[in-house]
Amino acid sequence: MVDNSASVRVLAGLDPEQRSAVTAPAGPVCVLAGAGTGKTRAVTSRIAHRSLTGEISARHVLAVTFTARAAAELRHRLASLGVAGVQARTFHAAALRQMRYFAPRLLDGRALPELLDSKVRLVTLAAARAGLRADRTAARDLAGEIEWAKSSLVEPGEYAVAAAKALRETPYEPAKVAEVFAAYEKLKRSGGVIDFEDVLRAAVWGIEEHPDVAEQVRNQYRHFVVDEYQDVNPLQQRLLDAWLGGRDDVTVVGDASQTIYSFTGATSSYLVDFPRRYRNATVVRLVRDYRSTPQVVGLANAVISQARGTEARLRLELVGQRPAGPEPERRIFTDEPAEANAVAARCRALIDAGTPAREIAVLFRTNAQSEAYEKALGEAGVPYVVQGAERFFERTEVRQAMVALRAATRAVDGGRGAGPAELESSPGGIPLRAAVVEALAAVGWAPDAPPPGGAARERWEALAALVQLAEEYAANPPLLPLGAAATVQRPVTLTDFTDELARRAAQQHVPTVEGVTLASLHSAKGLEWDAVFLVGLAEGTLPTTYARTAEQVEEERRLLYVGITRARQWLWLSYASARSPGGRARRPCRFLPQLAPSGGGERARGGSAVVRPQRRANRIISCRICGTTLLAGPDRKLGRCATCPSDMDDELHERLREWRSRVAEAQRVPAYVVFTDATLVALAERRPDRTEELVAIAGIGPRKLGLYGEAVLALVRGAAVDEICPEKSF
Ligand code: ATP
Ligand code: MG
Repeated sequence: MVDNSASVRVLAGLDPEQRSAVTAPAGPVCVLAGAGTGKTRAVTSRIAHRSLTGEISARHVLAVTFTARAAAELRHRLASLGVAGVQARTFHAAALRQMRYFAPRLLDGRALPELLDSKVRLVTLAAARAGLRADRTAARDLAGEIEWAKSSLVEPGEYAVAAAKALRETPYEPAKVAEVFAAYEKLKRSGGVIDFEDVLRAAVWGIEEHPDVAEQVRNQYRHFVVDEYQDVNPLQQRLLDAWLGGRDDVTVVGDASQTIYSFTGATSSYLVDFPRRYRNATVVRLVRDYRSTPQVVGLANAVISQARGTEARLRLELVGQRPAGPEPERRIFTDEPAEANAVAARCRALIDAGTPAREIAVLFRTNAQSEAYEKALGEAGVPYVVQGAERFFERTEVRQAMVALRAATRAVDGGRGAGPAELESSPGGIPLRAAVVEALAAVGWAPDAPPPGGAARERWEALAALVQLAEEYAANPPLLPLGAAATVQRPVTLTDFTDELARRAAQQHVPTVEGVTLASLHSAKGLEWDAVFLVGLAEGTLPTTYARTAEQVEEERRLLYVGITRARQWLWLSYASARSPGGRARRPCRFLPQLAPSGGGERARGGSAVVRPQRRANRIISCRICGTTLLAGPDRKLGRCATCPSDMDDELHERLREWRSRVAEAQRVPAYVVFTDATLVALAERRPDRTEELVAIAGIGPRKLGLYGEAVLALVRGAAVDEICPEKSF
């Protein structure tokens, strides 16, 4: 149906560049822009505008993104623009839905095999088959490698070469990892289960190998939108290509500076190369940041301006559009419990001053950090929601509540399709909300004040969200079938509501739970809150100790950039100088010199996030690798942080690499068999000129010393590769 006034309204909320993306003709569109510039607003508006003007039908649109919460955000924004019927899902959910639908046809009447929750258990078994005794951490690392390989379209037989090419730091020798990978695939097949990546692979296979499936899918979906396109991996891209089937009605939006999933195989190159791949693409760039105050934007720009590498070349400086707000607050604590307690107290104060709890987020690098905040918030009586910890509809109390609600419908109206009782709004004609509250009493929920204590409070809030949903559903009922040919609206019944819950559960369409969001930085992508606490900003946590290569460190920097740009108004940055009271001292995150204690050891509190000029005596010495201010004596002498990935002689590194590749080629082995990348970096950094110094480098044992010691020492002394290793001499 054409709705001109609504489509005009959609355009009214946009700036000229956003409008050009929204009104671009059918065909490829690419929006390349920084955080908070309205990319998601532009794509949702494009869908809305095209469907409200009648150019396309919303039913034929498939909008995909990467996290369930981001997909929910897309649905929410589309609904508020007045568009219904668009499929907005994660890649995974879209593929799963299609595969469930087509499985009987593709698998001789069988349903889709059961989906593995986690790879860890099977990987542990597979490792044992390959002769490895992998503990949980090792199994997780192996699972990560398998995930990377499958997302990168790499088969077990190709793994070793692909991993070397991609400079992966493998948990075991690559050949061993490949063996585990092959064993894992076998175990999976014999157990009749599939994993997360298999769902996408199956969807690709279904479309690529079955013309009838391809035709049906392509007939259903004609217009595609991908949000956060910088994080697409080769497998997802292949699925997108399969959906498109050579057509080009695809809109992608993304920001290379927010690439935070490369460790799983994602790459911003599809986004960056989009205009080259589609020569007729409409390309739009946005720089106005509508989300955050100039104070937050200033800090975000400062952090990303230090970025290096491929993604950094594409960064755009954001221009804040909102009125000025408070300076980001910087805090340092003696230990983590003190940090968590202060965050909880500040959340309490914000809520008391009128900020809704759902407009506050506490973001951290790893999920393990969540617990301290759950405890502190629980003790402070602040409601919270742990994002991604457990799916809402899989929570025990929610499942019990759904059973109780179903039972209540049976008790009153005999369940689905009952007679006249269905016409009443709920059991005995009482309003839906009251009926739901009554049914939830069976699982111990009462509408009065929530219980104290973190976990109990969390359970209470989850059930309160169901009651809230019932209220919204009753206030805003969909058109319900009354019977043959009848179209008048009737009051909603408890049965309608339980059906609605089942539908939502199937789609993972979770209700909003009132509470402060506790989330990892990864899962916060694309979202925004009025107040954001970035906590645990200590070296070793952000960047994580696992970030060893320069690329990995850059990804950590982008992660911090994502975190900062989630805040609309109010931003808090903190870390604890020791994990527990009296523990080993830590240093602040290297990307935030603003967090370092100011001269004289005084603790930084509040105030400007901009580095102030310092007195000469207290001269700032910056790390020549990452730019952070150096405080510790040894670091200042070195001229770089001890934890920085490298400070190497690039020219020597180049010669070492060239030499290594010639040796590897001559011996017909992958390069890492000669020396790993890490060893080459260490050599180029330490420039050893004696045998004793050589053996002090990890990765150089007696065997390698015998084989390559002389050559390496000659290279360090300046020999040309041709001198010590003439081409094709092996
Ligand atoms: P991210 O990179 O974090 O995903 P984004 O580019 O997708 O960010 P949006 O979430 O679409 O940005 O927009 C950020 C905020 O700015 C939202 O609250 C949005 O409603 C608002 N906004 C976007 N464009 C405009 C505009 N033209 N006028 C006013 N507000 C806007
Ligand atoms: Mg967005």
